[in-house]
Amino acid sequence: MLKTPPLSVYVHMPWCVRKCPYCDFNSHVAPARLPAEDYVQALIADLEQDLPLVWGRPVGSVYFGGGTPSLFSASHIATFLSALRARLDLRPDVEITLEANPGTVEHDSFAAYAQAGVNRVSLGVQSFSDKLLKQIGRIHGSAEIDQALQSLSVAGISNFNIDLMYALPGQSLAQSRRDVERAVAAGPAHISYYQLTIEPNTAFAVQTPALPVDDLAWDMQQAGIDALATAGYGQYEISAFALAGLQSRHNVNYWRYGDFLAVGAGAHGKITSPSEGAVLRYAKHRQPKRYLQGSCSGDWLAEKRRVTVDERVFEFFLNQLRLKQGVHIDDFSPRTGLSWKVVEERVQMAINSGLLEAVQKRLKPTSLGWRFVNDVQQIFLP
Ligand code: SF4
Repeated sequence: MLKTPPLSVYVHMPWCVRKCPYCDFNSHVAPARLPAEDYVQALIADLEQDLPLVWGRPVGSVYFGGGTPSLFSASHIATFLSALRARLDLRPDVEITLEANPGTVEHDSFAAYAQAGVNRVSLGVQSFSDKLLKQIGRIHGSAEIDQALQSLSVAGISNFNIDLMYALPGQSLAQSRRDVERAVAAGPAHISYYQLTIEPNTAFAVQTPALPVDDLAWDMQQAGIDALATAGYGQYEISAFALAGLQSRHNVNYWRYGDFLAVGAGAHGKITSPSEGAVLRYAKHRQPKRYLQGSCSGDWLAEKRRVTVDERVFEFFLNQLRLKQGVHIDDFSPRTGLSWKVVEERVQMAINSGLLEAVQKRLKPTSLGWRFVNDVQQIFLP
C-alpha cells in the first residue's frame, strides 16, 4: 500500500557567473541584469500550481540549488520563503539549505541569508589550491574561500557543507590530502567529497584535460575517506560525510526515496499519490527564458509521468543503496506500493553473493557490496 513519505521542497536557481567546463547541471551564464524579481515571482506562481499535489503535508527541508543561488539577494530568498510558509506547513525544525559559491556571496552576507530563514549553507569550495581551481575553470580562489568561511562564522552558521573534489587535472595525492585537511580545519558539519568526472556535453568532454589515472584517483578517495573518518566525519553516503547527527536531511530524504516538490527552471520532482495509486515524476521547463514565460502562460511543466511498478523497485534500491546504512526494509512497501515478496529472490541472490547482509530491519551492503555498489544496484533493474 502506497503511503506518503516525508516531503522536501527543491528550488532551482539556474544562473552562474560563468559555466564551469566540467559542469553538466542546468546552469546558465547570468545575464548582465539578473531578472531576480521576475524569477522569484515565477517560482511562487509555479509553487502555487503544484500545491494540490501536496495539500496538508508538512515540509521537512527546503533546498535552494543551482546554478548559484547566492547570486540572489537575501531579500529575494526571504520573499520566496515567506510565500512558501504562507502556503505550506514548514516543520518547526525545517532544514533550509542555500548553495553558495565563494566569490558570489558578496551579494549579501550569510548573516542576511540567515535572517531570511536559511539555516544551512552548502559551499562550493572544490579545492583550496588556486592553481587547481584555475585548472577547473572556477571563478574563485583561496582568498574568496576564506572570506566566505569568515562570513559564515560571523553569521553563526555552523551547519554548513564544503563541496570538495578530487582527481583534478594534475592533482597529486599530497595535494588531495591537503585539501581534505584544509576542509576539516574549516570546521564544517558536513563534507561532500567526490571525484571529478567527465560528463557528456561539457567543455571538458570536448577538450579533456589529463586526469589522474584510476589507481591514483582510488588512492585519493581512500586517503580522503580515512582522513575524514579520523576527524570524526562518518561516511553515510557514497560521497557524503558528516559529524554525528549532522547529515543533510534533505539529501537523506532523497536517497530514502522520499518526496520532492520541485520549483524552478529544470527542477525535477517526485510525488507519491496514494489516492491515485501512483508515484509521479515531473520536470519544469529547463531554459530560464522558457520557464519565465510561465508567468504569462501558466505553463511551467515540461513533463509529467507515472513511474511504472518495475521502475519504482529500481529507483527505490538505486537510491537507498547509496546509503551506507543500507536499505530500510520497512520503507519498501509504503514507498513503492509493492510487497517485499516482489524482490525477495533478488535480495537473496545478493545476500548469497556476499554483496548484502541483513542487519535488523535493514539490508546493508557488505564491504564487497559497497565497493561494487553499481553492480548491486543493477540487480534491481527492471
Ligand atoms: S558554479 Fe556549480 S552550477 Fe555553476 S557552472 Fe560551476 S559547477 Fe555548474
